[in-house]
Amino acid sequence: MTETKGYAAQDAKTSLAPWNFQRREVGPHDVQIDILYCGVCHSDLHQIHDEWGGSIFPMVPGHEIIGRVSKIGTQVKNFKVGELAGVGCLVDSCRECENCKHGLEQYCTGGQSYTYNSYEQDKKTITYGGYSKFIVTHEDFVLHISEKLPIKGVAPLLCAGITTYSPLRHWKIGKGHKVGVLGLGGLGHMAVKFAVAFGAEVTMLSTSASKEKDAKKLGAHKFVLTSDAESLKTVKGYFDFIVDTVSAPHDYNLYLSLLKTDGIQICVGVPPTPAQIFGFSLLAGRKSLAGSSIGGLPETQEMLDYCAEHNIISDVEIINIKDINSAYERMLKGDVRYRFVIDMATL
Ligand code: NAP
Ligand code: ZN
Ligand code: ZN
Repeated sequence: MTETKGYAAQDAKTSLAPWNFQRREVGPHDVQIDILYCGVCHSDLHQIHDEWGGSIFPMVPGHEIIGRVSKIGTQVKNFKVGELAGVGCLVDSCRECENCKHGLEQYCTGGQSYTYNSYEQDKKTITYGGYSKFIVTHEDFVLHISEKLPIKGVAPLLCAGITTYSPLRHWKIGKGHKVGVLGLGGLGHMAVKFAVAFGAEVTMLSTSASKEKDAKKLGAHKFVLTSDAESLKTVKGYFDFIVDTVSAPHDYNLYLSLLKTDGIQICVGVPPTPAQIFGFSLLAGRKSLAGSSIGGLPETQEMLDYCAEHNIISDVEIINIKDINSAYERMLKGDVRYRFVIDMATL
């Protein structure tokens, strides 16, 4: 084992603070990555506050990890020391279930190993995330990162990027579709960029009037302030799809009413409390409420390659790790433009 530095939450009530912990030695199939940047996801905040239940402490969050390979195991075939590499939300899975065999490791029925707040496949070794100096990961769960794009803006693709790319691809969303993106934060701004790139007509549905200009700059064709009843009326029964990225409790019935017949509201946001949905909100118009979780390894690599080819990155605000707790406070207020990324050299 090798000792390393990180930032951790010791329990659900205290702020993040420096913490030393152990990483495993590089095994034959492992890649060690010296972390350069790590994105800050709202899921980090939900989990350190134990809002979804079952949080494991101490917790080192971070699953938008970019760095350079500093060591490789003797059997590693796909990575070389010095290359850029990334780790997203998954570090392992059972590899045997139908989903794993189809590259859908995010839906592993044997129990996937998330990058933090989770266990390795031995089901007892706790995983620690990217708010740390380096990470050791099986090469099958390490992504190749192009040297073409500024890596600060690439880090958030590892979660915010794949989480929005995957459902858009799954439902074949593109030309001819009217798409509403609900919530302009980390996931929301990537959903806008991808849906626009895929040729859809995109409307930003936001609670923040101050974000209208940015939404248009990101490529959204329309902007609707959801607190304004008149503005909302213009999009009743309008959308083929709504990508719902909202992190807080909200009225699903209201947004279902913005779908046309056979429309689908795709939930990627995970508010801490369960949703209340009237049957009528779904049956009137044969609507569906669906969900989508991150993405598997092959699709994550596909998304990263697509972004390198089409010059797509996240809009980021770089922070010092010392400012992580105030960044969380701003995130809670919806004041992120549009992803905080930690410069890990500040650790
Ligand atoms: P974020 O950057 O904080 O963005 C969330 C946005 O939601 C806010 O910027 C705000 O946008 C909107 N919002 C906040 N409170 C709201 C409310 N009460 N009513 C309506 N809108 C509200 O968060 P994120 O990192 O994008 O993550 C969003 C959610 O996705 C989180 O729950 C996170 O855990 C989840 N997530 C899921 C997956 C997955 O695999 N499915 C992966 C990553 C994250 P406006 O100001 O525009 O209203
Ligand atoms: Zn995330
Ligand atoms: Zn599996």
